[in-house]
Amino acid sequence: MSRAFQSSLPLARHRIDRDHAARRDDALLDARWASPEARVLVLHKGAALAAAGADPENWDGFGHRPSSRVRPGVALVSPADLPGVVTDEILTDGIRLYLGLALGAAEGAPDGADDGAADDAGAVAPVTEQPVAGALPSGSPVFAVSLGDEQVEALATAAREAGEPEPVWINLRLVAADLDDSEAGAFTEALAMFNWHATHTHCPRCGAATLVEGGGWVRRCPVQDIELFPRTDAAVIVGIVDEHDRLLLGSNAMWENNRFSLLAGFVEPGESLEAAAIREIAEESGVVIDDPEYLGSQPWPFPASLMVGFLAKVSPDHPPVLRPDGDEILALRWFTRDEIADPESGVLLPGSSSIARAIIERWYGGPLPEPERA
Ligand SMILES: [Zn+2]
Repeated sequence: MSRAFQSSLPLARHRIDRDHAARRDDALLDARWASPEARVLVLHKGAALAAAGADPENWDGFGHRPSSRVRPGVALVSPADLPGVVTDEILTDGIRLYLGLALGAAEGAPDGADDGAADDAGAVAPVTEQPVAGALPSGSPVFAVSLGDEQVEALATAAREAGEPEPVWINLRLVAADLDDSEAGAFTEALAMFNWHATHTHCPRCGAATLVEGGGWVRRCPVQDIELFPRTDAAVIVGIVDEHDRLLLGSNAMWENNRFSLLAGFVEPGESLEAAAIREIAEESGVVIDDPEYLGSQPWPFPASLMVGFLAKVSPDHPPVLRPDGDEILALRWFTRDEIADPESGVLLPGSSSIARAIIERWYGGPLPEPERA
């Protein structure tokens, strides 16, 4: 396994000590929430409140990311700066999820994003407050909350009354590669956890409503007094290479034409990662692979996956005959490096936040060339 590959995965980055020991200490968590260093990541329907000046463009995550004037960042606000109606709700009926303690910027990280906006006194355009890499001081307690529609409206009202811009919400899938390590890790952790909470409000054994405990990391059934813990669903994704060193990509039934990506599927209960890779590839494509080689993994909280990446060669004993399953995969195609990089091909490849992109680039030998822009 190569560390370089793992560090190329946008959602595998993190700069938080999850501080497991503090989760069960409510008094300590209250003190951390009240501390001036505390910061909150605010979610609404899976999107995060953006840092001031974010200017996300409409983009579906496939192909090349539009060049954006301002790097979108995640807002990490002080609890004291949230409107009272929002914090009251969080502390009574909501979930105050404790993400952990910020580790500060990694060694060698840039100390700040380049401020692209003109900020001299004579500039007419409003100065955008650029999110700064490593802006969270080491040791800051970091929480996350997920707001309902009424609380979001209260945030917007508070912004209007203060003469500030309306809140902007950003989607992790689209901005992952733009975020710094702290933001990417906190957003991924928070989204994965709130996706779990949203679908585990009741006990799977008796149906009773469950209670949130442990800093947001446990739900307890009060009837049977059992604890329910967050789940994550492992999925394998495989770069398959044939004897001519071509890469196999498939087009999914749920996608528009000309979107191609690697084949992937969920690990079934009672199955190893390797067996799942071999089975999924055979099911979806008819291709038999030998000895899938582990590359790395990244969380993919859409809603609850862990993507486990492999590279594999076609078995020499089973010459590949492409048989798309016609259900999930409608088309299959071997690509040479020239074909993948051809700007005229019209083929849309997975976006930069995905492990699929990282595996394709690992086989390609470096970043895929950006298409010419008008
Ligand atoms: Zn129960």
